[in-house]
Amino acid sequence: MSNGDTISPGEFKHFKTVVLNEGILLAGFDYSGKSVNVLNVESMTEWQKIVQFAEQSAVIKGVVLVSLKEGNFCAGADLEQMHHAQRQRSFQEMEQLVIAAHRLFDEMERSPKPFVVAVEGACLGGGLELAMACHVRMTSTHPKTCFALPEVKLGILPGFGGTQRLPRLIGLPEALGMITTGKTVFPRQALRMGLVEGMVTSIPSSVRTLERVQKETLVQAAIAQARVLCSVPVRRPPLRASLRFLSGPGIRTLVCRYARHQVIKRVRHFYPAPLRAIDAVGRGIGLSILEGSLTVEKPLLLDLMASQISSHLVGLFLAGEEVKRNIATIPAAAARVGVLGAGLMGSQIAGQLAEKGYEVVLRDVSSDILAKAIGRIHKAQIAQVRKRIILPSDLRYRMMRVAPTIHIKDVSLASLVIEAVSEKLDVKRAVLAEFESEAHPDAILATNTSSYTLADIAASAVHPERCVGLHFFNPVAKMQLVEVVRASFTSDMALAQACSLAKRLGKFPLVVHDGPGFLVNRILSRYLAEAVIMVAEGISVLRIDTVAKNFGMAVDSGHPMGPLELLDLIGLPVALHVLTSLAVLGSRIESRDALLRNFLPEGKPPLTFWKSEKENPQALDAVANYRRANPSEAGPITDDILHQRLFFPMVDEAVRCLNDKIVEHPWQVDFALTYGIGFPAFRGGLLTWARQTMTQGQVAQELESLAIKYGKRFEPCPALSNGGW
Ligand code: NAD
Repeated sequence: MSNGDTISPGEFKHFKTVVLNEGILLAGFDYSGKSVNVLNVESMTEWQKIVQFAEQSAVIKGVVLVSLKEGNFCAGADLEQMHHAQRQRSFQEMEQLVIAAHRLFDEMERSPKPFVVAVEGACLGGGLELAMACHVRMTSTHPKTCFALPEVKLGILPGFGGTQRLPRLIGLPEALGMITTGKTVFPRQALRMGLVEGMVTSIPSSVRTLERVQKETLVQAAIAQARVLCSVPVRRPPLRASLRFLSGPGIRTLVCRYARHQVIKRVRHFYPAPLRAIDAVGRGIGLSILEGSLTVEKPLLLDLMASQISSHLVGLFLAGEEVKRNIATIPAAAARVGVLGAGLMGSQIAGQLAEKGYEVVLRDVSSDILAKAIGRIHKAQIAQVRKRIILPSDLRYRMMRVAPTIHIKDVSLASLVIEAVSEKLDVKRAVLAEFESEAHPDAILATNTSSYTLADIAASAVHPERCVGLHFFNPVAKMQLVEVVRASFTSDMALAQACSLAKRLGKFPLVVHDGPGFLVNRILSRYLAEAVIMVAEGISVLRIDTVAKNFGMAVDSGHPMGPLELLDLIGLPVALHVLTSLAVLGSRIESRDALLRNFLPEGKPPLTFWKSEKENPQALDAVANYRRANPSEAGPITDDILHQRLFFPMVDEAVRCLNDKIVEHPWQVDFALTYGIGFPAFRGGLLTWARQTMTQGQVAQELESLAIKYGKRFEPCPALSNGGW
């Protein structure tokens, strides 16, 4: 830092600065060496120097903070640094960073010189806490702009004063809603709730230099705000009366108690972070922001940061970054995509594509099916209008991007075609033949099959190198994982096209090798098949699903779910198909087809295990009929054994997948099952859980005992005892 009233160019590594007319210091955050801005010791030290310079300089009258990263304001704290601290079990540096952040944000807030922030792109965690310490927040309608305090999803709480500032800014109930769920808020919602003071429509410049961004409407609006505030004392607008009432001392306890109740309903007691965050908010309200931050928020944060749950969640988050970083993508990815099949999956995939700006040609065999699919896409999109995430005009543009058709030749202009037709091998092969005769010679066919291998489908393809798997999970909008399946014949170009598309849809494209059930369904099938076998033995649906839910299955989705409810969601015909086709793996995949076929009455929709949150009486009748025809008695069973029967075969199958090189690393299994089937994230993933809760060889021993009592399907693979997973 130079003395006097200037900052020398090149003085900072992560910020660019310029002093504009009337003493406005424009600071552009541009973290060096990362695609997003992060807050760590280095960047915070530089920001502190800028703040102190502005404070001390007679020339500087106000500060405007902007981001020079495209689509990102600031991603928050540096999680790699935090994970390193968690692995070393050394939190001194993190504590120093937190204390420094509290003091710095307090200094900004109390400064007589206005700090105005122009937020464009994702403003998350510490990034939002930095923005909240400014006097005025301006934002734009840029599609990537969003706000969130997602710390609870990492097992911690907002630790740069977020639990103290947010309730004062938007009121207690809304703040608790944001903090305890980590939910994302979009610009219009942020404006309505008072999280930002102004919003403009602004076109970001593609060249992100200070000179260029100064010309953007958003930055000009922020500079104008700063100039106005230089001449009047900086004052924060008061909370609306209704919010003041709900944040007042009398009602505060009730509001916090309600929030606590909601958290427990959603995540039970599996996750301590949201409850600690409520404590931090509730206890901090009577204190000054700095005191609350240092004496309430900080100790709670450090406790949570040192927990194994947080370490697991941060590890999984970083695994996701790794998955996105290490894939081959191509810059000139497809802009027009064909989707074949407008059923449950095809319609959802088409909706997601339209949402992300793709031109979609959606093909099915009849206009009726297409009309229903368009209705479903419209319904999903209109929900976003109601929540004020998008405008009605956005909805219209999105709908206009989907062109329904019954003619295959309409798909011929698409450079990538996703096949989501009925799960029948002859239909899939016929569709591939049609594609080869009609599509552009360079076009790629990505199949969404769940039970056939790529090799099965492309057996008689003329150009198998153009075939790749793109296995989405249901519901497509919610499930973040996509398995990108590579067969020995798949070309690098096909793989890169598929990965690029999945990444642009905001998914995690995990590359897996071709094989029955790929990775996720292969492991999942052991869990689902065992649950059905137990039903056939007479164990209640409620008990089986309760054991799985007590372990935390699908708790992260907000809808805890056992294997039988999951079977209902997947749909019995698809599930039966997967289970039957995986019989090729050997006798360990035992499917009780005869029982499940009782669930498929002729000419009627399939029965489900659950109906209106109760066991379905018709399903129970179907089970009773099956048991009369196939009497079997497995004897009494403890919850412990029931649990082992559900989860240990999955561990066995995961190790077999590693042996078969479906994926290379155990962390990929952990990641895939967490994001693909809802294995509870707080356990760190299937293999991490098994390694950390059992001694080497224990899973294999228990499986051997199960094999003696319940059958050969439990016999463990040799690699399970050898370790190395
Ligand atoms: P679905 O039965 O709901 O839809 C299939 C659609 O394909 C139907 O609308 C049918 O009319 C249409 N179709 C049949 N032949 C066609 C052709 N020649 N051209 C165009 N359309 C044709 O099935 P779904 O559940 O959407 O599954 C589709 C694919 O996705 C399957 O391969 C399935 O294994 C896979 N998948 C399903 C799930 C799930 O949870 N249901 C999850 C992942 C993957």
